[in-house]
Amino acid sequence: LIKPVDKISALLELYPKGMAGFRRFRELIDQEPDVQDRPDAIVVDSLDGNIRFDEVSFRYDDQKPVLSRVSLSVRSGQTVAFVGPSGAGKTTICSLIPRFYDVNEGSISIDGIDVRDMTMESLRSQIGIVQQDVFLFTGTIFENIAYGKLGASDEEVYEAARKAHLEEFIAELPDGYSTEIGERGLKLSGGQKQRLAIARMFLKNPPILILDEATSALDTETERIIQQSLAELSEDRTTLVIAHRLATIRDADRVLVVTKDGIAEDGTYDELVRKGGLFARLHNIQFQEV
Ligand code: ADP
Ligand code: MG
Repeated sequence: LIKPVDKISALLELYPKGMAGFRRFRELIDQEPDVQDRPDAIVVDSLDGNIRFDEVSFRYDDQKPVLSRVSLSVRSGQTVAFVGPSGAGKTTICSLIPRFYDVNEGSISIDGIDVRDMTMESLRSQIGIVQQDVFLFTGTIFENIAYGKLGASDEEVYEAARKAHLEEFIAELPDGYSTEIGERGLKLSGGQKQRLAIARMFLKNPPILILDEATSALDTETERIIQQSLAELSEDRTTLVIAHRLATIRDADRVLVVTKDGIAEDGTYDELVRKGGLFARLHNIQFQEV
């Protein structure tokens, strides 16, 4: 039996989102009886990350459907961007993969295994999520990075910090890795918080990565710099990126345009621009503004 506190921190590790997110998590946890391990659920390990949605329909509680018969597949190692109007269901699509909710109809599988046939703990160990709000706790920089992996060695934490390009920043701190952050300690900038989240993910090293508007709160210059680290993080992983600014998804292997009616367009960035549809319009609007 997992203690409630362990359960909460297991979720937070996956889906850190500050206080607002925490409140949402309480709701998720409270309703969690809906999402449970099947008695014969299997423990998965080192998945390849081939994700498939087969005619997935989903609605929150008694509300109107958010997704109706959505099918899509993402090959292992691909980076796929989700774009589309706010409220279209991009975050919902991504929340169904770690089973924050279960589908009402259809199925989601990874490497051909229905996610409902996996233990939730092992499924979630295979997925990393980076969002706009990074969950920090009162503690040292070291502890906040080490949070990405239970029992990480010192060397692993340093390595993760290096990969996230945090080393230089940490070296300049009065107490280095032992510097206290959080409520009473050092206040990190938005960009530094994102780097910390990226370091945690390097440490966790999941085959599947979800970036949900991770950089959309940053100024464009900071976003550009963080983008490089995110690109390094997403290398060799199946990556789903929900993007606000289209400049950040130029290099995605594929772009899926999500609307209230489902996946409206699917292709490479350039294909969709040439097609002259919804994505082309979004593209034109964003690049006219510059
Ligand atoms: P996007 O990420 O594309 O902006 P979302 O997936 O967040 O869209 O939301 C899709 C729809 O589902 C919206 O109408 C939104 O209000 C609704 N929704 C999102 N999260 C919840 C929730 N936890 N409970 C009820 N409705 C929700
Ligand atoms: Mg969203």
